[in-house]
Amino acid sequence: MRPDLAPPWSAYRLHIGGEELDAEAGRTFASNDPTTGEAWAGFADASPADVGLAVGAAAAAFAQDGPWRSLSATRRGRLLLRLGDLIRERADEIAAIEVRENGKLLKEMRAQLGAVPDWLAYFGGLADKIEGRTIPLDRTSVLNYTQREPLGVVAVITPWNSPSFLTAMALAPALAAGNTVVVKPSEETSASILEIARLLEPAGFPPGVVNVVTGGRAAGEALVAHPGVAKVSFTGGSDAGRAIAAAAGSRLARVTLELGGKSANVVFADAEPEAAEAGILAGIFGAAGQTCIAGSRALIQRPVYDEMVERLRHRAEAIAIGDPMDPATEMGPIANPGQLAKIERAVERAREEGARIVCGGRRAAVPGLPAGLFFEPTLIADVAPESRLAQEEVFGPVLALMPFEDEDEAIALANSTPFGLAAGVWTRDVKRAHRAARRLEAGTVWINMYRSLAFNTPFGGHKDSGIGSLNGIEALDGFLQTKSVWVELGEEVQDPFLLKLK
Ligand code: NAD
Repeated sequence: MRPDLAPPWSAYRLHIGGEELDAEAGRTFASNDPTTGEAWAGFADASPADVGLAVGAAAAAFAQDGPWRSLSATRRGRLLLRLGDLIRERADEIAAIEVRENGKLLKEMRAQLGAVPDWLAYFGGLADKIEGRTIPLDRTSVLNYTQREPLGVVAVITPWNSPSFLTAMALAPALAAGNTVVVKPSEETSASILEIARLLEPAGFPPGVVNVVTGGRAAGEALVAHPGVAKVSFTGGSDAGRAIAAAAGSRLARVTLELGGKSANVVFADAEPEAAEAGILAGIFGAAGQTCIAGSRALIQRPVYDEMVERLRHRAEAIAIGDPMDPATEMGPIANPGQLAKIERAVERAREEGARIVCGGRRAAVPGLPAGLFFEPTLIADVAPESRLAQEEVFGPVLALMPFEDEDEAIALANSTPFGLAAGVWTRDVKRAHRAARRLEAGTVWINMYRSLAFNTPFGGHKDSGIGSLNGIEALDGFLQTKSVWVELGEEVQDPFLLKLK
């Protein structure tokens, strides 16, 4: 975060209880465009008191007789659909704002903004399909049924790489389940979320159902620590995830954690070479590698290893780096200076560890954008499986390549990091494909494809990549609690000294 800079720029405020408010004591911070280096927007820097105000507004909206809980599930769902319609109308504009914030390609941010209404529609449609069960107890005089109830105030904390999309992934099931929400977007990318917040009232949401507090880690910590927050849905790095799980756990608040990855594309010698090549490129150079599902390791069977490294080098060196608003650009800048420095350090360490830099490995210069944070598409071959490059998330356009001999070694290598977010398998052998899918320790396995998500199939990390999942019907489970209701229909009088066990 940078301190205040003088206007002109867009000035954004907190969104609390349906109103736009300055932060306590008027503290602000600025956001820089990674393509030009210019500060272009200012945000309110929420204090713990501001966070408390937002949680208070969300708690008031969740009150038993309040406007949110008095809405039927069907009406609640319709509001999600209406919000999606309003976002669709402004999708291109909001996508362009996201490009200014994180430097990802306009076409990628447009695709994500275009998908947000689908996510809202899917979960809006599910709102009135949240059902309990009637359970035939071993006692005919008792009626037993379950109700699935919202938790209360949910904190949604998100990273900078896909701001609206990742917020929608958590917001949609949280609201569909009947909770109220306080969103804390990344300090790097808060503008698009505040633009969407402006659509809440026109969509018909009662004030306080969704609140947005902006600020850095301190604002996030205050939110996680707040006793009024029943659940934290966090998307971000594994270190922050651990800290959040510990803080939430200390007061027994629930968490869903969508964390980092070191996902492997596993290419067997019988794979379609063009398809595998395209999948590997999409996995690591799409979004300049700044995506949790980046396929940042390529494990390639020995007979085709050299040929595949050469193919990838050829394609990587031809990638058009430049202004993410230009449709001809294939890879934009790195989102912020801290991330760029982290990428440079990771490549430097790999060099020191003796890995072979096949191409890239340095900052890239783009004519006309001298302050842009560009980095070359980088391939690093013969990476040792235990090295830091093979084990740690880089979150940049840096691919670690490793050969393997047979299926057992491929699976062992793929599973050899602490992460378990995703994996790709490239083979024409259908039995091997499904065997691999069964043995890979990852929340998502793509076979002969990569980097795809859908609103109706679950997405979540295994191992250090997370707890719980978003997307798909399962996502609702994380935002609901179950109540069992017992009704004595007969005349039986209970034995006061005996626990009944049926
Ligand atoms: P980050 O963890 O630094 O920050 C994410 C958010 O958490 C930000 O809003 C930040 O302000 C807040 N935060 C940080 N520390 C906190 C704390 N201790 N308490 C409360 N809030 C805190 O992540 P980032 O750099 O913004 O994003 C990159 C990371 O996100 C990568 O590791 C990437 O893999 C991960 N990611 C995961 C998914 C997924 O779905 N699994 C999706 C996208 C990104």
